[in-house]
Amino acid sequence: MDGKALAAKVREEVAAEVAEIGDVGLTTVLVGDDPASDVYIRSKHRAATAAGIHADDIRLPADTPEDELLDLLARLNEDDDVDGILVQLPLPSHLDETRAIEAIDPAKDVDGFHPVNAGRLYLGRPTLVPGTPLGIMRLLAEYGIEPRGLHAVVVGRSSIVGKPIAHLLLQANATVTLCHSRTVDLQKHTLDADILVAAAGRVHLIGADMVKSGSTVVDVGMNRTDKGLFGDVDPSAAAVASHMTPVPGGVGPMTVAMLLKNAVHAAKTRRGLQATAAEPPSRGR
Ligand code: NAP
Repeated sequence: MDGKALAAKVREEVAAEVAEIGDVGLTTVLVGDDPASDVYIRSKHRAATAAGIHADDIRLPADTPEDELLDLLARLNEDDDVDGILVQLPLPSHLDETRAIEAIDPAKDVDGFHPVNAGRLYLGRPTLVPGTPLGIMRLLAEYGIEPRGLHAVVVGRSSIVGKPIAHLLLQANATVTLCHSRTVDLQKHTLDADILVAAAGRVHLIGADMVKSGSTVVDVGMNRTDKGLFGDVDPSAAAVASHMTPVPGGVGPMTVAMLLKNAVHAAKTRRGLQATAAEPPSRGR
């Protein structure tokens, strides 16, 4: 499954929507000078600007006191030109990530990390959903993979990937198994997966012998090592699966594209152009 090509298509959709709405404002906040965060922020800005989004890149020194960050977020919440706010994680260790996320107005929380948005997702209500799981659902839809009735196995239970993708798959009427580091006999579960989402952050944790023949495999892993960037799934699994995402070029580009979609949804919702924020995929009852 070609995430790069689909992300380009999504970004074109976003550009058309931005042109229709007029102005869409996205503000990112990066505290400190972590090189990986700098790369992520720059790629988000490139994509946003190319789609016609007005993107503001706020950089704060690594020793910024928490009060200053919270004051800034309060000002951005009040600023009518700002539709979306994103605080790049991880934050330096003296700053409380939970407090920072909770300081963002949920209506502007384009990362979908605020507990209000996570709670709405849990309840199956329309809301802003994190970009990575949204991107996975869009990839499945693009390749005609209908989750209804299928067994979906998610490996990893983080709040930014594992849990939200499990909820989206459940809402799409898959039967969902959520695995984690204490799961006994992981292979038994993965071998039964019609849709396997690997989001554990472990190089090639899933071998070809752990994948069901003809299944769909989504590799979320982005594991940087001295030898390069590797996914959570051994590429040899592609010979067993009917569909699989590559690393790089699979889920990664979709995450950025769906972040832009979220900025557009936030803008439309704030301006009353749609009743609610991003619609989760239809339940297809
Ligand atoms: P995380 O917060 O570290 O969570 C990892 C999860 O995997 C945890 O729930 C952990 O279980 C589970 N796990 C770890 N080792 C395992 C094992 N041997 N067997 C089964 N489960 C295991 O990671 P994350 O933020 O979700 O990210 C996961 C991966 O996706 C990373 O490689 C990250 O770089 C990548 N990622 C990619 C994108 C993208 O855009 N492509 C976006 C986000 C993340 P416990 O809960 O029991 O500890």
